[in-house]
Amino acid sequence: MKNYIIFGAPGCGKGTQSQKIKEHFNIHHISTGEVLRDHIARGTELGKIADSYISKGHLIPDDLMIRVLAHELKEKEDEASNGIILDGFPRTIPQAIALEKLLREYNSGIEAVIGLEVDEPLLVERMIHRGEETGRADDNIETIKERLKVYHRRTAPLKEYYEKEGKYLPINGNGSIDEIFDHIKEALAKK
Ligand code: AMP
Repeated sequence: MKNYIIFGAPGCGKGTQSQKIKEHFNIHHISTGEVLRDHIARGTELGKIADSYISKGHLIPDDLMIRVLAHELKEKEDEASNGIILDGFPRTIPQAIALEKLLREYNSGIEAVIGLEVDEPLLVERMIHRGEETGRADDNIETIKERLKVYHRRTAPLKEYYEKEGKYLPINGNGSIDEIFDHIKEALAKK
């Protein structure tokens, strides 16, 4: 079981590259944002709570998010037998610590953290464009600004956390989808 994290600021291309990684390496994709959006669309209790945070550009509290991931890992155990690409989790240091513990229960761990590094104006441009194309509710300029602030304060420190573990692979995420995917494959091949 080879597990990877795809990491970076909102709008860096995590979802798009996860799809390519999933197909290329034949592993399972878990996007915590998608799991939450699915709950919102179905109007579940979790969806109602999640919506109140997501619409403000804030993070869902760690204890709740960790339970959501634990449930997802258990439910998708068979599909994930070859490995997982984790997209949108962890987003805080306590989530990273909880993830290690959870994966240990499956005798597994994190192989590498794929860090998509994208210039901030391009992040904003991509999210605005995505909002127009898909109608994603949190892709509006006010919420985008808040999400970027929250990213710098709470999520960005994970880069150093995984660098210290020797797992962080910096990837230039400014190019085309295929160029970026080529960089990812090269970086993983060298690992
Ligand atoms: P994403 O699709 O990864 O951009 O996630 C969309 C939104 O879902 C985020 O802005 C957060 O509000 C929420 N979310 C997704 N994953 C997490 C997480 N690991 N921890 C806290 N909130 C999350």
